[in-house]
Amino acid sequence: MRGLLVINELTQVKSDHFLITYHGIYEEEAEEVAAILENNYEQIRKDLNDPDHDIVRVFIHPTRKDFSKATGLSNVTVTGTSRGPLEFHILWTTWYNSLFPDNPRSTAVHEFTHCVQLNILITNELAAVTPEDRENFDKLFERKFSEEYPQWFWEAICTYEAKEINTFSVMYALRNKPNLKMLNDSNQIYLVGYTLIEYIVEIWGKEKLPELITSYVDLEGVLKVSEAEFEEGWYKFVTEKY
Ligand SMILES: [Zn+2]
Repeated sequence: MRGLLVINELTQVKSDHFLITYHGIYEEEAEEVAAILENNYEQIRKDLNDPDHDIVRVFIHPTRKDFSKATGLSNVTVTGTSRGPLEFHILWTTWYNSLFPDNPRSTAVHEFTHCVQLNILITNELAAVTPEDRENFDKLFERKFSEEYPQWFWEAICTYEAKEINTFSVMYALRNKPNLKMLNDSNQIYLVGYTLIEYIVEIWGKEKLPELITSYVDLEGVLKVSEAEFEEGWYKFVTEKY
């Protein structure tokens, strides 16, 4: 147990852009999450060119059991998940409930960045949708997103904005030179994701990030390189830098 000051009843903290619902953690911890999210809010939305964004609902769960019950996710490696552009959940990982706790503060920024990507994509699609497709919009968007938006980029942007980077893990994950296709289906993306975006930003500039999002990551169209050229350049960049 983490002491008597842990707040056990469902409680809310409200900041300018977030409504945080929590229990089983300290009030200061929930306030800390709100402060970290607010501190990153403008920068992330500016980096990615997010249109108007309504209040985001954040749910913080104190145990794996609470997290799984609320999200339906039982995989023990998952510690956060976004639910559309306006909601995300995180597990408050600590030495009490995790073998190797990650930092739930970065997880919150990571998940918020998923919300931003979804807000951009959905706003864009809604502007282009025909009246008859509007009825089935959710289904159509979900299908397009899962078929066309590359998983490696979806995660890489979030690890970049949450500054989830560890030099040792980068070198470890790059031993077998994973390509983008492999990274779409592998947890290795969490180890190297930061460097993929860092590479894009250093070579082509940050202003390419919004274009990549709205083009569903058209590397040829936006960066003028093939996927193979991009991968080679990235290996070289990482080897020189790390
Ligand atoms: Zn993620």
